[in-house]
Amino acid sequence: MNCFTCNARIPSRMKTGLLSLLIDTNAGPVLVDTGLGLQDYSNPTWFTQFFRVITVMPFDPNEAAVNMVKSFGYAPEEIQHIILTHMHFDHCGGLPDFPQAKVHVHKREYESFINSPRRFKELAYLKRNIHHVREWNLYESSGERWFGFDAIQLPGFEPQIWFIPLFGHSQGHCGVAIQTQTGWHFHCGDAGVDIENNVAPGWLIGTALGPHWPRLREFAQSHPEIRLTASHMHLHFFENAN
Ligand SMILES: [Zn+2]
Repeated sequence: MNCFTCNARIPSRMKTGLLSLLIDTNAGPVLVDTGLGLQDYSNPTWFTQFFRVITVMPFDPNEAAVNMVKSFGYAPEEIQHIILTHMHFDHCGGLPDFPQAKVHVHKREYESFINSPRRFKELAYLKRNIHHVREWNLYESSGERWFGFDAIQLPGFEPQIWFIPLFGHSQGHCGVAIQTQTGWHFHCGDAGVDIENNVAPGWLIGTALGPHWPRLREFAQSHPEIRLTASHMHLHFFENAN
């Protein structure tokens, strides 16, 4: 699902949506990341308003995860679990729209959010996004591996869901690997780029995404059977998915 369209002013062909995943599991439908939430549209913070100036956003509440989930025929109350790659405003702004959901995130990311110093990157942590969370499930590295990556399996889910720690874009940023009927979907979050449609310049990739991109690109080349996605996919990706 595209839960937040955000287009660059320069280069203007850089048009992206925020990829949220809706996974059918034994614990009901599970969301990975939420995009912006309804309060971001009705009562945006100065930080969101700042982003509306430096980027081009349609700013359409129909893209809020709660409305997207409904458009797929689910009641928002059915979402009992939300998995976060990290806690920047464009990934967890929708949490208040799912107050019944347990939230799964790496412990290091949660602590970074709670204790965030006022550096520029941490301004993307908006405290109000977590006010209504009733239960946190926090994860730490356990020595497990997934295709050579450090990995943490989220217990109890069928199909298997794994956190793949890819720290750097934020303190506790993780990719999410999901077992599918034919193999794996590896969602790299903000540590990767949309390989097929990328128009971002190299310097931007290096500074914004953290250190993992070269390894992820190699992994994609050597594992064509595994589907890789990034959080900010080009709008073409969503058009082709529909
Ligand atoms: Zn981010």
